[in-house]
Amino acid sequence: MSELTLKPELSRKIAEIYQAMAAEYDIVAQQIPLTCEGCPDNCCDSYFQHYTYVEWAYLWEGLRALDQETMERVVTRAKAYVKESKRLLAKGERPQLKCPLLDDKLCGLYKHRLMICRNHGVPALLTRPDGQQMRFPGCFRCQEIVKENYKEETDAPAMERTSLYRQMAQLESELLGNVRHLYPKIKLTIAEMIVNGPPQDIESCLK
Ligand code: SF4
Ligand code: SF4
Repeated sequence: MSELTLKPELSRKIAEIYQAMAAEYDIVAQQIPLTCEGCPDNCCDSYFQHYTYVEWAYLWEGLRALDQETMERVVTRAKAYVKESKRLLAKGERPQLKCPLLDDKLCGLYKHRLMICRNHGVPALLTRPDGQQMRFPGCFRCQEIVKENYKEETDAPAMERTSLYRQMAQLESELLGNVRHLYPKIKLTIAEMIVNGPPQDIESCLK
């Protein structure tokens, strides 16, 4: 089986979507106003799972650029994360463990961090494919600020995620092509994406 790699054009497009997300986030964060500076929490220990091969492949693009020593450290941490998260989940507890890419409170792979890492914090709006609209209140700190500064929660500005998510889904289709239906659905933590290795091209194993 060969690796599922991103063509340079696809890699450029995902970087553009990520930049657009960061820009949208900053606008809403300034309006709220919300900043992570001085926050007693660190969201990089939140238990998040990720659903796209395109982000998985892009994460690996970043991992490949790490020097050997850093990579070994990250893999060791990722293995420990996977083991401990399985143990906690088996007990019915939601894991709260440091992301294996976190170095001294900073993301060690900032340019390649995933969508949820970029969006978490400010309130957000999403229209699902079935037309249902959803509103997310943002992180605990954001919710406190919104309570103080706005009469109703819905008066606070929110980041519109729908178009950005659609663009990401489009890139997923571009990557997987007309065999998209053959790929198993994924739901992986960053640690699992590291421990499992890069995503594999399903077409190559069918030949
Ligand atoms: S997103 Fe919210 S909870 Fe997370 S570090 Fe920033 S302010 Fe704190
Ligand atoms: S990838 Fe980076 S930003 Fe995302 S959880 Fe890990 S350390 Fe935090």
